[in-house]
Amino acid sequence: MDYEAVIGLEVHAQLSTNSKLFCSCSTKFGAFSNSQVCPVCLGLPGVLPVLNKKALSYALAAALAINCEIPKISRFSRKNYFYPDLPKAYQISQYDEPLAKNGYLEIFLSKDTVKRIGINRVHMEEDAGKLIHCENEDSSLVDYNRCGVPLIEIVSEPEINSSEEAYEYLMSLKSILEYLEVCDCNMEEGSLRCDANVSIRLRGENKLGTKAEIKNMNTFKGVQKALEYEIRRQINLVEEGEEVAQETRLWDADRQITLSMRSKEGSSDYRYFPEPDLSPVIVTEQLKEQVLNNMPELPLARFRRLMEECGIPEYDTNIIVKDRKLADYYEECVKLYSKPKVISNWIISELLGLLSKNKEEIDQIKITPLQLAEMFKLIDKGIISGKIAKELFVLMYESGKDPLVLVEEKNLRQVTDQDSIDTVVEKVLKEHCQVVEDIRNGKEKALGFLVGQVMRETKGKANPKIVNDSLLKKIKG
Ligand SMILES: [Zn+2]
Repeated sequence: MDYEAVIGLEVHAQLSTNSKLFCSCSTKFGAFSNSQVCPVCLGLPGVLPVLNKKALSYALAAALAINCEIPKISRFSRKNYFYPDLPKAYQISQYDEPLAKNGYLEIFLSKDTVKRIGINRVHMEEDAGKLIHCENEDSSLVDYNRCGVPLIEIVSEPEINSSEEAYEYLMSLKSILEYLEVCDCNMEEGSLRCDANVSIRLRGENKLGTKAEIKNMNTFKGVQKALEYEIRRQINLVEEGEEVAQETRLWDADRQITLSMRSKEGSSDYRYFPEPDLSPVIVTEQLKEQVLNNMPELPLARFRRLMEECGIPEYDTNIIVKDRKLADYYEECVKLYSKPKVISNWIISELLGLLSKNKEEIDQIKITPLQLAEMFKLIDKGIISGKIAKELFVLMYESGKDPLVLVEEKNLRQVTDQDSIDTVVEKVLKEHCQVVEDIRNGKEKALGFLVGQVMRETKGKANPKIVNDSLLKKIKG
């Protein structure tokens, strides 16, 4: 049987304001427990919340960037539930009148396929505190610093059909939020959290299957893995004639499985009611204009512009554009060196490789765009070979020194001197008479072996073209 997955994602993004959603407490991560609280975010009697204007404009920017409609009026509601990390016993959220709705996000699936995923809604809400469970003890501690920290929840339509699409969706969303600078998207610190609703159905069918909600996924790859597992689990159940239960499941990253946590509560369990202490949120045309005017070029627009201006392949452009800082770096390089394709190749194969090996981000790199441009010019001038450049690049990465300084320091200059190359070539030819014979008998491919030997003798510094010519001349006379 051919099944398809139906996935909807709920993403909670922490807005990177300095203060909380309804009070002036700091939102700084990592402070001493319960040091960033006040009567408002602790929900003491008699206090009044006041909406953080910056949080509103950040939320609006995010909603507009994913093409949402913004109703003139939205309202806050109380979502009632008791939990030790929620001192008020309710969370201020938005319910039937959210800030934004009916948007979409475009994701790249393969070279030529762009898929549009509907956005059901974007709403603002406050975060809850954090429980710290003491190991080997029968107790838990609670830290209220996170109470009242501003979040937006972005709810997609169930239009994602595979774990790969879910991953792409999250990467695209993250990229937009980073471009807008409204969320630092640090999953480890909890600035970006994602829950997924998953069901399966036979391909071609319209009816939705029973869905399970998956929580506790802490990385984007974790989301992808959890979804892969859950889709397989549901297909196995159905194939065995069993039913999928409507429930909440937890992703166990260590064991790479999802585990049943509890049966899923519906929204009626929360007894939402309008928040009486906050007036409706009115988004004027003027405010909307202001947010739109301050919006940077977004990833998709930048993607299209770079495709046109730099003529680099779609795949490469996509990789570069996803990370705003990487794209900024790339564009700086293009200004200084006029071969965009050479730069993008280098960035994707060499630079990203080194960054990931060293677990670093582009803004930690010591090589400036100017230094990278100079390195390319050294290759063009024949001062170093392309092969040596890779070695040089690692040295630049480690030291932050100028390429030319390193070339002199490490004696990396390309050998173009005919006599010294001829000497090495003669030595190599003597050592490999049989290969020379083979080449004379038409086995042209063996020439590559000899070139390799000469390069080895010269530690990769000989000019490959001169080596090639010299070998041919001496073999064929
Ligand atoms: Zn506070």
